[in-house]
Amino acid sequence: MSDFKRNRLARQKNFDIYEKELVPFKFDGKDKEVYKNCNLSIFVDDYCNADCKFCVAQLRYENRNKLYEKERIEDDDAYYERLDEVLEKLEPLNLSVSITGGEPTKSPRLPRILELLEKHHIRKRTITTNGSGLFDKVNGKTMLDHLIDNHFDHLNISKTHYDEDINKKIMCYKQGYCSNEDLAKIIPYALKKGLRPRLSCLLLKDGIHDVEGMAKYIEFYEKIGVDNIIFRQLMDYDLEKMCNVEKMHYCMKNEVDLNDIWEEVDKDKRFIPFKNILGYYYYVEIYNYNKVVVCSESADLKVLYEEKKRHPDVVYELVFHPNGNLNGSWVDNEDILMEYKND
Ligand code: SF4
Repeated sequence: MSDFKRNRLARQKNFDIYEKELVPFKFDGKDKEVYKNCNLSIFVDDYCNADCKFCVAQLRYENRNKLYEKERIEDDDAYYERLDEVLEKLEPLNLSVSITGGEPTKSPRLPRILELLEKHHIRKRTITTNGSGLFDKVNGKTMLDHLIDNHFDHLNISKTHYDEDINKKIMCYKQGYCSNEDLAKIIPYALKKGLRPRLSCLLLKDGIHDVEGMAKYIEFYEKIGVDNIIFRQLMDYDLEKMCNVEKMHYCMKNEVDLNDIWEEVDKDKRFIPFKNILGYYYYVEIYNYNKVVVCSESADLKVLYEEKKRHPDVVYELVFHPNGNLNGSWVDNEDILMEYKND
């Protein structure tokens, strides 16, 4: 049996947070230990111009039986001031930062958020977007150029299929779109300017659902210069705690099991195994396919909550919410580490 297969089968049973480096840190009087690989996610806004049938952002939130409508600091200056304060406090942790949402490129706040990350010398900067706002202009400059000028490292673009009709059917854009034609402009431009794009494809029965589909997807986008692609399995959820019934039904009907795909990948000589990573609630396998680095990831939110419950003093992830709270959770009133007080 290959090492990949052994780890794949054992998965989270083998994960022990105390084998990882933990950094003691005080958040507003609370003594915690922060996982060294911890990332700070800045959830810019819940607005999105698409309405993906599987929307991970909404599901993640609703998994705790909460409605997906976040409170926010309405005043822009108060918001930037609060983010500045939180980034300064976290500076000793030297965190990587991911920008997410909703659709962050549709938020007029984005350019100033990027400037704040530049001000605090954040070591690794990533944004996850559906790509549709990258050519939108703020202060005479495209969002793409704002990212480049503020030294972003990674640009994750979600695209569920290379076939535009299928992609549109799954992502249900209400306004705007990121076409393959747009990607053919974005990818080489970003690469030339030192911003590394990565396409992110959620595996769905309605969309890419087998090894052949993955191969076609890779080859299609390799032609326009993409050298990094991630295929994700829909996250596993605790069904009893869900409240978005429509999205949940879609996910249940459309789930593709990566274990089946990995069995096929093991036999396919085009996928050359490179490395695998075991995280606290996710497992990733990385392959080379021609000149493209291909990742495949499965994640389980139930495992995430169990893991956190077992070790309440460990901080696994940090999320800065639109209401100004810094949390160890994607839910803005759960596991609050630095609470925003508007006084
Ligand atoms: S693009 Fe992202 S945030 Fe927007 S609906 Fe789709 S999954 Fe949700």
